Amino acid sequence: MQDNKICEIPGCQKNENTIIHHLYPRNYRCNRRGVPYNGRQDKMILCIDCHRKLHKTFKNKELFNLYNTKEAIVAFFSQIK
Ligand SMILES: [Zn+2]
Ligand SMILES: [Zn+2]
Repeated sequence: MQDNKICEIPGCQKNENTIIHHLYPRNYRCNRRGVPYNGRQDKMILCIDCHRKLHKTFKNKELFNLYNTKEAIVAFFSQIK
């Protein structure tokens, strides 16, 4: 299931080496299968470079509290460009 996966960061949009980033870090999820927290969207596709940058910049707690939507993450990446 590797098709049609592109990095969801505008301006990046790499279509290789993508992974699924969970908007709610594992410790905060309802269960280990990644059931969306409060029924909200949990998954975002990122390339490994964007993903690494995100996790180097923020601790899971910050991701959970502040960067738990695609919009917030896209906004972060547009700031650092
Ligand atoms: Zn991640
Ligand atoms: Zn990317």
